[in-house]
Amino acid sequence: MSKNKKVETFHISTYGCQMNIADSSTLASSLITRGYRRVKDEKDADLIVLNTCSVREKAENRIYGRLGEIFKYKREKPHMKIAVVGCMAQRLGDELIKKVPHVDFVLGTDRLFELPDALEGIEGTSSVMTAFGHENIDMIAPVKDSDYSGFVTISRGCDNYCTYCIVPYVRGKEVSHSADYIVDAVKKMVDEGVVEATLLGQNVNSYKYEDTDFPKLLTRVAKETGIKRLRFMTSHPKDLSKRLVDVMADDPTIMPHIHLPVQAGNNRVLEKMGRIYTIEHYMKIIEYIKKTLPYVILTTDIIVGYPTETESEYEETLKVVSEVRYDSAFMFRYSVRPGTVAAKFDDDVPEADKIRRLQKLIKLQQGISYEQNQQELNQIRFSLVEGYSKRDKNKMRARTDGNKTVIFEAHGLKNGTIVPIRIKAADAFTLHGEVVEPN
Ligand code: SF4
Repeated sequence: MSKNKKVETFHISTYGCQMNIADSSTLASSLITRGYRRVKDEKDADLIVLNTCSVREKAENRIYGRLGEIFKYKREKPHMKIAVVGCMAQRLGDELIKKVPHVDFVLGTDRLFELPDALEGIEGTSSVMTAFGHENIDMIAPVKDSDYSGFVTISRGCDNYCTYCIVPYVRGKEVSHSADYIVDAVKKMVDEGVVEATLLGQNVNSYKYEDTDFPKLLTRVAKETGIKRLRFMTSHPKDLSKRLVDVMADDPTIMPHIHLPVQAGNNRVLEKMGRIYTIEHYMKIIEYIKKTLPYVILTTDIIVGYPTETESEYEETLKVVSEVRYDSAFMFRYSVRPGTVAAKFDDDVPEADKIRRLQKLIKLQQGISYEQNQQELNQIRFSLVEGYSKRDKNKMRARTDGNKTVIFEAHGLKNGTIVPIRIKAADAFTLHGEVVEPN
Protein backbone atom coordinates (compact mmCIF):
# COMPACT_ATOMS: atom_id res chain seq x y z
CA MET A 1 0.00 0.00 0.00
CA SER A 2 1.33 3.45 -0.88
CA LYS A 3 2.73 5.73 1.79
CA ASN A 4 0.95 8.61 0.08
CA LYS A 5 -2.57 7.20 0.35
CA LYS A 6 -4.82 9.73 2.04
CA VAL A 7 -6.04 9.38 5.62
CA GLU A 8 -9.81 8.92 5.41
CA THR A 9 -10.84 6.95 8.47
CA PHE A 10 -10.05 7.20 12.17
CA HIS A 11 -10.43 5.33 15.45
CA ILE A 12 -10.05 6.77 18.95
CA SER A 13 -9.30 4.71 22.08
CA THR A 14 -9.80 6.53 25.35
CA TYR A 15 -8.08 5.81 28.66
CA GLY A 16 -8.63 7.36 32.09
CA CYS A 17 -11.25 9.72 33.39
CA GLN A 18 -14.49 11.23 32.14
CA MET A 19 -12.62 14.38 31.11
CA ASN A 20 -10.81 12.23 28.55
CA ILE A 21 -14.09 10.69 27.38
CA ALA A 22 -15.47 14.19 26.86
CA ASP A 23 -12.29 15.28 25.01
CA SER A 24 -12.42 12.22 22.74
CA SER A 25 -16.04 12.96 21.83
CA THR A 26 -15.12 16.54 20.97
CA LEU A 27 -12.10 15.42 18.94
CA ALA A 28 -14.22 12.86 17.05
CA SER A 29 -16.73 15.59 16.27
CA SER A 30 -14.04 17.89 14.85
CA LEU A 31 -12.55 15.07 12.72
CA ILE A 32 -16.00 14.14 11.36
CA THR A 33 -16.69 17.80 10.58
CA ARG A 34 -13.49 17.82 8.51
CA GLY A 35 -14.66 14.83 6.46
CA TYR A 36 -12.95 11.93 8.22
CA ARG A 37 -15.00 8.80 8.84
CA ARG A 38 -15.06 7.04 12.20
CA VAL A 39 -14.61 3.26 12.11
CA LYS A 40 -15.43 0.75 14.83
CA ASP A 41 -12.40 -1.48 14.38
CA GLU A 42 -8.98 0.13 14.67
CA LYS A 43 -7.62 -2.31 12.07
CA ASP A 44 -9.75 -0.43 9.49
CA ALA A 45 -8.49 3.01 10.51
CA ASP A 46 -5.97 5.17 8.64
CA LEU A 47 -5.53 7.24 11.79
CA ILE A 48 -5.38 5.67 15.25
CA VAL A 49 -5.67 8.03 18.19
CA LEU A 50 -4.87 7.04 21.77
CA ASN A 51 -6.25 9.58 24.24
CA THR A 52 -4.11 8.84 27.26
CA CYS A 53 -4.02 9.02 31.03
CA SER A 54 -1.02 9.73 33.22
CA VAL A 55 -2.51 9.31 36.66
CA ARG A 56 -0.77 6.02 37.32
CA GLU A 57 2.39 4.48 35.91
CA LYS A 58 0.37 1.38 35.00
CA ALA A 59 -1.80 3.52 32.70
CA GLU A 60 1.28 4.72 30.78
CA ASN A 61 2.76 1.22 30.53
CA ARG A 62 -0.50 0.07 29.00
CA ILE A 63 -0.15 2.71 26.28
CA TYR A 64 3.37 1.52 25.43
CA GLY A 65 1.92 -1.98 25.10
CA ARG A 66 -0.86 -0.71 22.83
CA LEU A 67 1.62 1.20 20.66
CA GLY A 68 3.55 -2.04 20.11
CA GLU A 69 0.37 -3.77 18.91
CA ILE A 70 -0.62 -0.88 16.65
CA PHE A 71 2.81 -0.83 15.02
CA LYS A 72 1.92 -4.18 13.44
CA TYR A 73 -0.90 -2.49 11.46
CA LYS A 74 1.40 0.32 10.41
CA ARG A 75 3.85 -2.13 8.89
CA GLU A 76 1.06 -3.37 6.62
CA LYS A 77 -0.33 0.12 5.94
CA PRO A 78 2.57 2.59 5.66
CA HIS A 79 0.22 5.56 5.12
CA MET A 80 -1.30 4.97 8.53
CA LYS A 81 -0.86 7.69 11.18
CA ILE A 82 -0.67 7.22 14.93
CA ALA A 83 -1.48 10.03 17.34
CA VAL A 84 -0.93 9.96 21.10
CA VAL A 85 -2.91 12.76 22.72
CA GLY A 86 -3.91 13.85 26.23
CA CYS A 87 -2.13 13.58 29.56
CA MET A 88 0.72 11.21 28.70
CA ALA A 89 1.46 13.21 25.55
CA GLN A 90 1.51 16.36 27.67
CA ARG A 91 3.87 14.86 30.23
CA LEU A 92 6.35 13.33 27.79
CA GLY A 93 6.19 15.53 24.65
CA ASP A 94 9.24 14.92 22.37
CA GLU A 95 10.46 12.16 24.63
CA LEU A 96 7.54 9.99 23.52
CA ILE A 97 8.49 10.18 19.82
CA LYS A 98 12.13 9.46 20.73
CA LYS A 99 11.01 6.37 22.63
CA VAL A 100 8.43 5.22 20.06
CA PRO A 101 9.47 6.62 16.65
CA HIS A 102 6.49 5.20 14.75
CA VAL A 103 4.22 7.66 16.58
CA ASP A 104 3.36 10.55 14.19
CA PHE A 105 1.68 13.08 16.50
CA VAL A 106 2.04 13.91 20.19
CA LEU A 107 -0.56 16.47 21.21
CA GLY A 108 -0.99 17.57 24.83
CA THR A 109 -4.19 18.20 26.73
CA ASP A 110 -4.69 21.70 25.33
CA ARG A 111 -3.61 20.89 21.78
CA LEU A 112 -5.41 17.65 20.92
CA PHE A 113 -8.19 19.50 19.13
CA GLU A 114 -5.57 20.70 16.63
CA LEU A 115 -5.11 17.14 15.37
CA PRO A 116 -7.10 17.72 12.12
CA ASP A 117 -4.88 20.78 11.38
CA ALA A 118 -1.68 18.91 12.20
CA LEU A 119 -2.80 15.99 10.05
CA GLU A 120 -3.33 18.28 7.08
CA GLY A 121 -0.04 20.10 7.71
CA ILE A 122 -1.74 23.43 8.26
CA GLU A 123 0.70 26.25 8.93
CA GLY A 124 1.43 26.84 12.59
CA THR A 125 1.00 23.20 13.57
CA SER A 126 3.62 20.56 14.15
CA SER A 127 3.78 16.91 15.07
CA VAL A 128 4.55 17.60 18.74
CA MET A 129 2.49 20.29 20.49
CA THR A 130 2.26 20.59 24.26
CA ALA A 131 2.04 24.33 25.04
CA PHE A 132 -0.88 25.34 27.24
CA GLY A 133 -3.30 27.87 25.84
CA HIS A 134 -6.96 26.80 25.99
CA GLU A 135 -7.60 29.26 23.10
CA ASN A 136 -9.52 26.95 20.81
CA ILE A 137 -11.63 25.16 23.30
CA ASP A 138 -14.85 27.16 23.06
CA MET A 139 -14.78 27.00 19.27
CA ILE A 140 -15.49 23.28 19.13
CA ALA A 141 -19.04 21.98 19.17
CA PRO A 142 -19.75 19.69 22.11
CA VAL A 143 -20.92 16.23 21.21
CA LYS A 144 -22.99 13.51 22.77
CA ASP A 145 -21.51 10.52 24.55
CA SER A 146 -24.48 8.39 23.42
CA ASP A 147 -27.90 9.09 21.91
CA TYR A 148 -29.21 10.00 25.34
CA SER A 149 -26.34 11.28 27.50
CA GLY A 150 -23.50 13.74 27.13
CA PHE A 151 -20.64 15.41 28.93
CA VAL A 152 -19.89 19.11 28.92
CA THR A 153 -16.49 20.24 30.14
CA ILE A 154 -17.09 23.42 32.16
CA SER A 155 -13.48 24.06 33.15
CA ARG A 156 -10.08 22.70 32.28
CA GLY A 157 -6.95 22.36 34.40
CA CYS A 158 -6.52 22.55 38.16
CA ASP A 159 -4.87 25.00 40.57
CA ASN A 160 -4.80 22.74 43.59
CA TYR A 161 -1.53 20.82 43.29
CA CYS A 162 -2.39 17.91 45.56
CA THR A 163 1.03 16.42 46.18
CA TYR A 164 0.19 12.98 44.71
CA CYS A 165 -1.42 14.29 41.54
CA ILE A 166 0.02 14.85 38.06
CA VAL A 167 -3.08 16.62 36.70
CA PRO A 168 -2.01 20.26 37.27
CA TYR A 169 1.24 19.54 35.41
CA VAL A 170 -0.45 17.86 32.44
CA ARG A 171 -3.66 19.91 32.22
CA GLY A 172 -2.36 23.32 33.26
CA LYS A 173 -4.01 26.09 35.25
CA GLU A 174 -7.76 26.13 35.77
CA VAL A 175 -9.76 28.01 33.14
CA SER A 176 -13.57 28.19 33.22
CA HIS A 177 -15.68 28.32 30.07
CA SER A 178 -18.36 30.96 29.70
CA ALA A 179 -21.74 30.15 31.26
CA ASP A 180 -23.50 31.05 27.97
CA TYR A 181 -21.32 28.56 26.08
CA ILE A 182 -22.15 25.81 28.58
CA VAL A 183 -25.89 26.56 28.57
CA ASP A 184 -25.88 26.56 24.74
CA ALA A 185 -23.92 23.30 24.64
CA VAL A 186 -26.47 21.55 26.86
CA LYS A 187 -29.38 23.06 24.88
CA LYS A 188 -27.91 21.68 21.64
CA MET A 189 -27.60 18.24 23.19
CA VAL A 190 -31.21 18.38 24.41
CA ASP A 191 -32.32 19.28 20.87
CA GLU A 192 -30.55 16.13 19.68
CA GLY A 193 -32.37 13.93 22.21
CA VAL A 194 -30.00 13.92 25.19
CA VAL A 195 -31.82 13.50 28.53
CA GLU A 196 -28.87 13.40 30.93
CA ALA A 197 -25.90 15.78 30.95
CA THR A 198 -22.84 15.68 33.21
CA LEU A 199 -20.89 18.90 33.82
CA LEU A 200 -17.21 18.04 34.11
CA GLY A 201 -14.18 19.68 35.64
CA GLN A 202 -11.27 18.62 37.84
CA ASN A 203 -12.84 20.80 40.52
CA VAL A 204 -16.28 21.96 39.41
CA ASN A 205 -16.84 23.83 42.68
CA SER A 206 -14.20 26.42 41.87
CA TYR A 207 -15.87 27.21 38.52
CA LYS A 208 -15.98 30.98 38.03
CA TYR A 209 -16.77 32.93 34.89
CA GLU A 210 -17.41 36.66 35.41
CA ASP A 211 -20.14 36.75 38.08
CA THR A 212 -21.24 33.14 37.61
CA ASP A 213 -20.05 30.60 40.17
CA PHE A 214 -20.89 26.90 40.17
CA PRO A 215 -24.24 27.03 42.03
CA LYS A 216 -25.40 29.79 39.63
CA LEU A 217 -24.21 27.82 36.61
CA LEU A 218 -25.95 24.67 37.78
CA THR A 219 -29.19 26.60 38.29
CA ARG A 220 -28.96 28.15 34.82
CA VAL A 221 -28.32 24.79 33.14
CA ALA A 222 -31.14 23.12 35.10
CA LYS A 223 -33.66 25.90 34.36
CA GLU A 224 -32.74 27.11 30.87
CA THR A 225 -31.88 24.04 28.81
CA GLY A 226 -34.75 21.57 29.17
CA ILE A 227 -32.35 18.80 30.29
CA LYS A 228 -34.14 16.13 32.32
CA ARG A 229 -31.25 14.91 34.48
CA LEU A 230 -28.16 16.90 35.42
CA ARG A 231 -25.00 15.62 37.13
CA PHE A 232 -21.59 17.08 37.92
CA MET A 233 -18.12 15.86 38.80
CA THR A 234 -15.67 16.16 40.51
CA SER A 235 -16.10 18.14 43.73
CA HIS A 236 -13.36 19.39 46.03
CA PRO A 237 -14.22 19.57 49.75
CA LYS A 238 -12.53 22.94 50.19
CA ASP A 239 -14.81 24.57 47.59
CA LEU A 240 -18.14 22.75 47.85
CA SER A 241 -20.48 25.38 49.27
CA LYS A 242 -23.73 25.18 51.24
CA ARG A 243 -25.33 27.16 48.41
CA LEU A 244 -24.57 24.31 46.03
CA VAL A 245 -26.32 21.86 48.35
CA ASP A 246 -29.28 24.26 48.63
CA VAL A 247 -29.50 24.49 44.82
CA MET A 248 -29.54 20.68 44.65
CA ALA A 249 -32.35 20.56 47.21
CA ASP A 250 -34.41 23.07 45.21
CA ASP A 251 -34.17 21.52 41.78
CA PRO A 252 -35.13 17.89 41.10
CA THR A 253 -33.37 18.08 37.72
CA ILE A 254 -30.05 17.90 39.61
CA MET A 255 -29.47 14.26 40.51
CA PRO A 256 -28.91 13.45 44.21
CA HIS A 257 -25.34 12.17 43.91
CA ILE A 258 -22.20 13.86 45.23
CA HIS A 259 -18.76 12.41 44.65
CA LEU A 260 -16.64 14.07 47.33
CA PRO A 261 -13.09 12.67 47.54
CA VAL A 262 -11.93 12.55 51.16
CA GLN A 263 -8.59 10.82 50.43
CA ALA A 264 -7.65 10.39 54.12
CA GLY A 265 -9.18 10.74 57.58
CA ASN A 266 -6.23 12.32 59.38
CA ASN A 267 -5.33 16.02 59.24
CA ARG A 268 -1.56 15.54 59.13
CA VAL A 269 -1.89 13.14 56.19
CA LEU A 270 -4.35 15.50 54.46
CA GLU A 271 -1.84 18.32 54.85
CA LYS A 272 0.94 16.16 53.43
CA MET A 273 -1.38 15.39 50.50
CA GLY A 274 -1.86 19.15 49.97
CA ARG A 275 -5.61 18.82 50.25
CA ILE A 276 -6.17 22.21 51.98
CA TYR A 277 -9.05 21.12 54.25
CA THR A 278 -9.32 19.46 57.62
CA ILE A 279 -11.34 16.38 58.32
CA GLU A 280 -13.54 18.48 60.65
CA HIS A 281 -14.38 20.76 57.70
CA TYR A 282 -15.12 17.74 55.53
CA MET A 283 -17.45 16.20 58.11
CA LYS A 284 -19.31 19.52 58.47
CA ILE A 285 -20.06 19.52 54.74
CA ILE A 286 -21.24 15.91 54.94
CA GLU A 287 -23.49 16.82 57.86
CA TYR A 288 -25.00 19.72 55.91
CA ILE A 289 -25.53 17.57 52.81
CA LYS A 290 -27.31 14.86 54.81
CA LYS A 291 -29.42 17.41 56.68
CA THR A 292 -30.43 19.28 53.51
CA LEU A 293 -30.92 16.48 50.98
CA PRO A 294 -33.45 13.89 52.15
CA TYR A 295 -32.03 11.32 49.71
CA VAL A 296 -28.43 11.55 48.57
CA ILE A 297 -25.82 9.10 47.35
CA LEU A 298 -22.31 9.85 48.58
CA THR A 299 -19.21 8.41 46.96
CA THR A 300 -15.53 9.12 47.51
CA ASP A 301 -11.86 8.43 46.67
CA ILE A 302 -9.39 7.19 49.28
CA ILE A 303 -5.63 6.57 49.25
CA VAL A 304 -4.06 4.37 51.94
CA GLY A 305 -0.38 3.99 52.78
CA TYR A 306 0.55 7.58 51.89
CA PRO A 307 4.18 8.37 52.72
CA THR A 308 4.59 8.57 56.54
CA GLU A 309 0.98 7.43 57.23
CA THR A 310 1.02 5.61 60.58
CA GLU A 311 -1.27 2.77 61.59
CA SER A 312 -3.32 5.02 63.89
CA GLU A 313 -3.64 7.69 61.18
CA TYR A 314 -4.92 5.02 58.81
CA GLU A 315 -7.43 3.93 61.47
CA GLU A 316 -8.84 7.48 61.33
CA THR A 317 -9.65 6.91 57.65
CA LEU A 318 -11.61 3.80 58.62
CA LYS A 319 -13.45 5.85 61.24
CA VAL A 320 -14.47 8.46 58.67
CA VAL A 321 -15.67 5.74 56.28
CA SER A 322 -17.78 4.21 59.07
CA GLU A 323 -19.23 7.59 60.03
CA VAL A 324 -20.02 8.92 56.56
CA ARG A 325 -21.31 5.59 55.25
CA TYR A 326 -20.46 6.12 51.59
CA ASP A 327 -22.51 4.24 49.03
CA SER A 328 -19.32 3.32 47.22
CA ALA A 329 -15.68 4.36 47.01
CA PHE A 330 -12.67 4.23 44.73
CA MET A 331 -9.91 2.93 46.99
CA PHE A 332 -6.21 2.80 46.16
CA ARG A 333 -2.93 2.04 47.84
CA TYR A 334 -0.36 4.76 47.31
CA SER A 335 2.16 4.28 44.52
CA VAL A 336 4.83 6.73 43.42
CA ARG A 337 3.92 8.87 40.41
CA PRO A 338 6.99 10.44 38.76
CA GLY A 339 6.66 14.19 38.28
CA THR A 340 4.56 14.79 41.39
CA VAL A 341 5.68 16.44 44.64
CA ALA A 342 5.03 13.17 46.49
CA ALA A 343 7.58 11.39 44.28
CA LYS A 344 10.23 13.22 46.33
CA PHE A 345 8.80 11.88 49.60
CA ASP A 346 10.24 8.75 51.14
CA ASP A 347 7.73 6.03 50.17
CA ASP A 348 8.21 4.50 53.61
CA VAL A 349 5.04 2.48 54.24
CA PRO A 350 5.96 -1.16 53.46
CA GLU A 351 4.06 -2.64 50.51
CA ALA A 352 2.69 -5.44 52.69
CA ASP A 353 1.19 -2.84 55.06
CA LYS A 354 -0.33 -0.92 52.16
CA ILE A 355 -1.94 -4.09 50.82
CA ARG A 356 -3.28 -5.05 54.26
CA ARG A 357 -4.65 -1.55 54.88
CA LEU A 358 -6.35 -1.49 51.49
CA GLN A 359 -7.89 -4.94 51.92
CA LYS A 360 -9.30 -4.01 55.33
CA LEU A 361 -10.71 -0.77 53.95
CA ILE A 362 -12.31 -2.52 50.96
CA LYS A 363 -13.91 -5.07 53.26
CA LEU A 364 -15.30 -2.33 55.49
CA GLN A 365 -16.62 -0.33 52.53
CA GLN A 366 -18.20 -3.37 50.89
CA GLY A 367 -20.14 -4.10 54.07
CA ILE A 368 -21.35 -0.49 54.18
CA SER A 369 -22.21 -0.49 50.45
CA TYR A 370 -24.30 -3.61 51.04
CA GLU A 371 -26.13 -1.99 53.96
CA GLN A 372 -26.65 1.25 52.05
CA ASN A 373 -28.11 -0.73 49.14
CA GLN A 374 -30.50 -2.53 51.52
CA GLN A 375 -31.95 0.93 52.30
CA GLU A 376 -33.06 1.08 48.67
CA LEU A 377 -35.37 -1.94 49.01
CA ASN A 378 -39.00 -1.20 48.13
CA GLN A 379 -38.14 2.33 47.04
CA ILE A 380 -39.12 3.51 43.57
CA ARG A 381 -36.14 5.00 41.72
CA PHE A 382 -36.55 6.79 38.42
CA SER A 383 -33.84 5.22 36.30
CA LEU A 384 -32.28 5.85 32.90
CA VAL A 385 -32.30 2.79 30.64
CA GLU A 386 -28.82 2.09 29.26
CA GLY A 387 -29.22 -1.22 27.41
CA TYR A 388 -29.27 -4.93 28.14
CA SER A 389 -27.57 -6.54 31.11
CA LYS A 390 -24.18 -7.90 30.07
CA ARG A 391 -24.76 -11.14 32.00
CA ASP A 392 -28.41 -11.85 31.22
CA LYS A 393 -29.92 -10.89 27.89
CA ASN A 394 -33.43 -11.23 29.33
CA LYS A 395 -32.76 -8.27 31.58
CA MET A 396 -32.03 -4.62 31.04
CA ARG A 397 -29.73 -2.20 32.82
CA ALA A 398 -30.49 1.30 34.04
CA ARG A 399 -28.93 3.97 36.27
CA THR A 400 -30.93 5.31 39.20
CA ASP A 401 -31.10 9.01 40.03
CA GLY A 402 -28.42 8.33 42.67
CA ASN A 403 -26.17 6.80 39.97
CA LYS A 404 -26.52 3.18 41.05
CA THR A 405 -26.81 0.36 38.52
CA VAL A 406 -30.14 -1.44 38.57
CA ILE A 407 -30.92 -4.65 36.65
CA PHE A 408 -34.56 -5.41 35.82
CA GLU A 409 -36.62 -7.73 33.67
CA ALA A 410 -37.67 -6.00 30.46
CA HIS A 411 -37.39 -6.18 26.70
CA GLY A 412 -37.13 -3.60 24.01
CA LEU A 413 -37.13 -0.47 26.15
CA LYS A 414 -35.41 2.31 24.26
CA ASN A 415 -32.07 3.42 25.68
CA GLY A 416 -32.48 6.81 27.28
CA THR A 417 -36.01 6.15 28.52
CA ILE A 418 -36.56 7.09 32.17
CA VAL A 419 -38.61 4.45 33.98
CA PRO A 420 -39.79 4.07 37.59
CA ILE A 421 -38.24 0.92 39.07
CA ARG A 422 -39.12 -0.60 42.41
CA ILE A 423 -36.02 -2.05 44.06
CA LYS A 424 -36.61 -5.68 45.03
CA ALA A 425 -33.12 -6.93 45.93
CA ALA A 426 -29.61 -5.59 46.33
CA ASP A 427 -26.04 -6.74 46.91
CA ALA A 428 -23.03 -4.52 47.60
CA PHE A 429 -22.64 -3.52 43.95
CA THR A 430 -25.97 -3.73 42.12
CA LEU A 431 -29.67 -3.20 42.66
CA HIS A 432 -32.33 -5.46 41.15
CA GLY A 433 -35.87 -4.30 40.53
CA GLU A 434 -39.00 -4.22 38.40
CA VAL A 435 -40.64 -1.52 36.37
CA VAL A 436 -43.76 -0.15 38.04
CA GLU A 437 -46.45 2.32 37.12
CA PRO A 438 -45.53 5.83 38.25
CA ASN A 439 -47.45 7.01 41.34
S1 SF4 B 1 -7.89 18.72 42.97
FE1 SF4 B 1 -5.99 17.64 43.48
S2 SF4 B 1 -6.43 15.52 42.88
FE2 SF4 B 1 -7.94 16.79 41.83
S3 SF4 B 1 -7.04 17.26 39.83
FE3 SF4 B 1 -6.50 18.94 41.19
S4 SF4 B 1 -4.49 18.40 41.99
FE4 SF4 B 1 -5.38 16.51 41.14
